[in-house]
Amino acid sequence: MSEKDYDLFVIGAGSGGVRAARIAASFGARVAIAEDRYMGGTCVNVGCVPKKLYVYASEFGKAFEDAQGFGWDSSKPAFDWATLRDNKKTEISRLNAIYRKMLKGASADVIDGRARIVNANTVAVGEREYSAGKILIATGGWPHIPEFPGSELAITSNEVFDLEHFPERLVIVGGGYIAVEFAGIFNGLGSRVTQLYRGPLFLRGFDADIRAHAAREIAKTGVDLRFEVNVESITRGADGLELELTDGTRLTADAVLYATGRKPHLDGLGLEQVGVKLTEFGTIAVDEHFQTDEPGIFALGDVTGGMELTPVALAESMAFARRQFGEAGQQVDYDFIPTAVFCQPNIGTVGFTEEQARAKFGHIRLFKATFRPMKHTISGRDEHTFMKLIVDKASDRVVGLHMMGPDAGEIVQGMAIALRAGATKALFDTTIGIHPTAAEEFVTMREPWHED
Ligand code: FAD
Ligand code: NDP
Repeated sequence: MSEKDYDLFVIGAGSGGVRAARIAASFGARVAIAEDRYMGGTCVNVGCVPKKLYVYASEFGKAFEDAQGFGWDSSKPAFDWATLRDNKKTEISRLNAIYRKMLKGASADVIDGRARIVNANTVAVGEREYSAGKILIATGGWPHIPEFPGSELAITSNEVFDLEHFPERLVIVGGGYIAVEFAGIFNGLGSRVTQLYRGPLFLRGFDADIRAHAAREIAKTGVDLRFEVNVESITRGADGLELELTDGTRLTADAVLYATGRKPHLDGLGLEQVGVKLTEFGTIAVDEHFQTDEPGIFALGDVTGGMELTPVALAESMAFARRQFGEAGQQVDYDFIPTAVFCQPNIGTVGFTEEQARAKFGHIRLFKATFRPMKHTISGRDEHTFMKLIVDKASDRVVGLHMMGPDAGEIVQGMAIALRAGATKALFDTTIGIHPTAAEEFVTMREPWHED
């Protein structure tokens, strides 16, 4: 019998921490989990969940307009920010309680407060110290705003969900997931949105065709999308926040949302007390089993960098808990991780971009389709779906699948299994479609758009 208070002390009750605590406890480990802010972490409180609720909210305006071509009279729909915000709060409180109950049900002790590592086997929360056989750091990330004159006037994704007043004029800085998603959300809700990106084309890292298509489609929805521009300064003026931009132009806004990436959440964690080392990006360095340079201290999820996605943190935490407290199972397979950007319409993607595929496989075949969704033949909306398949010419394997169109996230989740299973283009071709859907296009693209 161990003399330690716990077998495992988890710091942070977010996506990774909660799952690790529950799985470890299910193997009989004595587990404590400390959380100083909110049960469920970023995803539940200021990430995936409230974001998706707001995406739903933002799509109604468009649906009311589209309905008219189908004979519905939907004159004068009105949106009330306070209703959405407060209903969202109620739902998140419900989820917070469920998370707490789940941990309790798993027999993990929940300790409310900020945890600090004292030494390789001790964690302090407030005045109290706890000894543990193993410590897991799952403290996630925190939004990062670069410093410039007036940067303190900008808000981040942490604040944007609960704004007291609806921002009629919103400037969003950044060209990644959060910037693109929130441009769609607030544009859909009725704000005048300007999105500023410092480079020539946003969504760096995504397939070049998807990026170009997204720029066209998003601009058509009414977002004022500006590239090769950044903010010089923000000041508070009589009519709102005044922005000076690097191209010499000015903007006035009710709020400025910075979505310029996230940094690991390490403040006051006490890493200086132990031998935990950081990577060049400031994330916690771990081996393939999530062990840090300090034996007995482990880390996973956003705090270790990599793909900052909830399902990745979940997969890592299950692999960790099984290996340390159960029977060692499979390691996390980071290949072909599907992902979606919940802009309007969605982007869904899995596998290699064209550029990556050509570098890795040499010769590739490309299949592309651009079309107007059937719904918009009658709604009249000028929106186009784009789909792309990338095939390794030598093996005929489909190695990249990209889409921007309604429900792309839902469609690509299923396609990801096929790509992971090594499906060939021939297998796609012999798969019978579901008609009439947009997804059937993935199994009916016959003529290569390009062949190396
Ligand atoms: P987190 O969920 O961030 O949890 C860390 C927890 O640790 C927090 O609760 C924090 O309060 C706590 N903590 C930190 N330090 C301490 C301490 N010293 N003591 C006690 N507690 C501490 N991912 C997707 O897959 N799909 C999406 O649609 C999606 N949308 C997103 C939208 C936004 C706006 C954001 C910001 C993120 C989104 N993500 C999405 C990313 C996803 O939220 C993260 O990848 C995921 O939450 C990471 O889980 P984690 O366990 O590593 O950290
Ligand atoms: P990202 O890293 O995705 O994007 C950051 C953006 O900010 C990039 O366009 C970057 O430009 C730009 N940027 C960085 N520094 C500056 C600067 N100093 N001035 C101007 N622009 C700058 O981060 P996000 O904050 O959007 O999101 C964090 C992570 O959360 C994502 O990477 C993703 O993993 C996760 N997430 C997932 C979602 C999903 O699954 N749907 C939704 C939301 C978040 P550049 O490209 O030039 O570097």
